[in-house]
Amino acid sequence: MAREYGKTELLEKILQCNRCGTCQDVCPTYMITGNENDVARSRLRLIRLVAEGKYAWGEEAELSASIRSCLLCKACVSNCPSNVPTDEIMMHARNEINKASGMPLFNRLAYRGVFSHSDRLSILAKLLRMYQRSFASSLVRKSGFLNLLKNYGKAEELLPPIPARSLKARLPELLPNGLDSKHRIVYFSGCAINAFYGRFGMATIEVLRHNRCHVDVPSVVCCGGPHLSGGDFAEARRLARINIDTILALEPDAIVTDCATCSGIMKEYDKLFEDDPAYLEKSKIFAEKIKDINEFLGSIDLRPAEHGVRGTATIHNPCHLREPHLAKPPRQLLRQIPELTFVAMDDADMCCGGAGSYGALHPDTSRTILEKKMHGFVASEADYLVTSCPACAMQLEFGLRRHNLKGTVVHPVELLAKAYNFKRSAEK
Ligand code: SF4
Ligand code: SF4
Repeated sequence: MAREYGKTELLEKILQCNRCGTCQDVCPTYMITGNENDVARSRLRLIRLVAEGKYAWGEEAELSASIRSCLLCKACVSNCPSNVPTDEIMMHARNEINKASGMPLFNRLAYRGVFSHSDRLSILAKLLRMYQRSFASSLVRKSGFLNLLKNYGKAEELLPPIPARSLKARLPELLPNGLDSKHRIVYFSGCAINAFYGRFGMATIEVLRHNRCHVDVPSVVCCGGPHLSGGDFAEARRLARINIDTILALEPDAIVTDCATCSGIMKEYDKLFEDDPAYLEKSKIFAEKIKDINEFLGSIDLRPAEHGVRGTATIHNPCHLREPHLAKPPRQLLRQIPELTFVAMDDADMCCGGAGSYGALHPDTSRTILEKKMHGFVASEADYLVTSCPACAMQLEFGLRRHNLKGTVVHPVELLAKAYNFKRSAEK
C-alpha cells in the first residue's frame, strides 16, 4: 500500500535491503527478462541514488522505466528477509516522478478521466459492448489499425465480453433484506465489478443476504487502487475521503467487497492520512471494518449448501490476497461445496501479469507471465479457474482465449451461489 516517505525515512527503508538476492527467485519481471534492473534489489538501488541526491526524480529514463515496470505484486515483500516494503517504495517513487515530470497521458485519461468518475466508466462499458457486438470490432482488427496504436492497441483483446447491464442496474432484481439479519454489512462494489463482473456482485449480495446479513449497497467511488499504483496519491486521497464519509455514515459492522484489490487498498487507507488528523482516526475505523468476502464468510456460521457443483476447481491467488490468513478462506469455502473437488495449482501465488493496467502498458511481459500461469492451470486439469479479483479474472479469461484452453473463470462466491441454487448471479 502506498505511503509518502520523508527523505530520511525513504533512505532508511532502502538501506534495510542487504542485497541478498532472494527477490530474484520470486520476481516475475526478473524471471521473464533476466535483466538485473527488473528486480527489487536493483530497483531499490536506483531509487537510493535519488534518495542520496545523486539524481533528481524523473531525470533518469532508466530509473523511471525500471520503477514503472514493477508489477507491485509484493512477491519480493513476502519473501524478503529484511522486510523491505518494495511495493510501497515503488508507489512513492512513481508519485515523486509524476510530481517532477507530470502525470503520464495514460494516467490522466484512464485513471483521473475515467476511474475517478463511475458514471463515465459505465458509459464507456456500454460503448465497448456495442463495439464488441458490432462488425466494427472485426473490421478494426482486420484493418491493422490496432497495430498503429502499438501497446494500447493490444489492450483491446484483454477486455472480457461486456455484460448488457452494470451491477448497479441489476440491483433492483435482488430480493430485499430479510428481517432476521444478524450482521449489518455495507457491500463495496468496485469499478470493475460494477462495469464488467456484475455476476460476482450479484452472487456476493445474494450469498450474504441468505446468510442473515443486512446488506446496504451505497453509491461509492473507485477505491483509488489504480491511482495509487500509478503514483497519484492526491487523487487517491480525494476518493478515499468520499468512500470513508459515505460508508461510515451507514454504521456497518463490516464493509465487504469481492474485489481483492479494493479490499487490499482500503484495508490500508489509514496510511494515506498519516499527516491528516481530520481523517486519520476515521480511516483507521474504516480500514478495520474492511473484509474480503471469503474472509467474512469464513468468520460467520455459513448456511450449508443443499446442492452440489460437479467438477474440479483450482485457485489463482490475487496478489492482494497473498498473505496466508487471506489465501486460506477461499480454499476453505470451496471445500464446503458439495461434490466440488479442489486441486492446488502450481505457482498459485504468482502474479497473473494483469496487475491492473499492466497488461495494457507492458503487454509483452504481461503475456509471458500469463503463459506461465496458464501452464499451471493446464497441469491442474481443473474445470474451474477460481479467483477473487475482477482484474485477475479479466487477465485469466484472456489467457484461456489466447491459448485456446477449456475452463471457466469464476469467483469462489459464484460457486457457492450455484451450490445454493441461486439463479440471478448466473446471468451474464
Ligand atoms: S530479498 Fe529483500 S533484502 Fe534481499 S535483495 Fe531483495 S529486497 Fe534486498
Ligand atoms: S513487486 Fe513484484 S514485480 Fe515488483 S520488484 Fe517485487 S516481485 Fe518484482
